[in-house]
Amino acid sequence: MSQEFTEEKEVFQQHIQKAGLKRTAQRDLILEVFLRTEEHLTSEDLYRLVQKEDPNIGQTTVYRTLKLLTEAGLAREVRFGDGRSRYEHNYKHQHHDHMICTECGATIEFYSAEIEALQDAIAAKHRFQPTYHSLRINGICADCRRRAREEKKHELTSQPHVRLVSSTHE
Ligand SMILES: [Zn+2]
Ligand SMILES: [Zn+2]
Ligand SMILES: [Zn+2]
Repeated sequence: MSQEFTEEKEVFQQHIQKAGLKRTAQRDLILEVFLRTEEHLTSEDLYRLVQKEDPNIGQTTVYRTLKLLTEAGLAREVRFGDGRSRYEHNYKHQHHDHMICTECGATIEFYSAEIEALQDAIAAKHRFQPTYHSLRINGICADCRRRAREEKKHELTSQPHVRLVSSTHE
């Protein structure tokens, strides 16, 4: 086992003990792979990554360990509106919100103190005490927008009558 993530491993160890479970090499490996990956992973994504290092680890073990990581406060569940649960780092990670590309699934994390304050003010106005929120903006990322523009250009130039029109601009 590497010496990375000592703090996180300590947190996990304590949670495992409290839950009356045993620390296993498989669980440790799953935790390590999760911590090494700065992404929003589904249980299947993590399973695929873990498989590369230990093909003997089953999908159920990965799924259950992810649940344990969430309970321990090391992971948090995020949902991007496609019905799948994704997990990201939670321990010592500041709150942030997400923009999600509906074309390629890319995510952009952002934090805005102004938006956070505004949300608090709106909640207060309704005498509502927020405990948790997640702000999700769906749309098209810069790469996909560029790709769409290029495809359009390509379509236009491959049509003879359009080429004629565009040549008048030259
Ligand atoms: Zn927020
Ligand atoms: Zn995209
Ligand atoms: Zn995130």
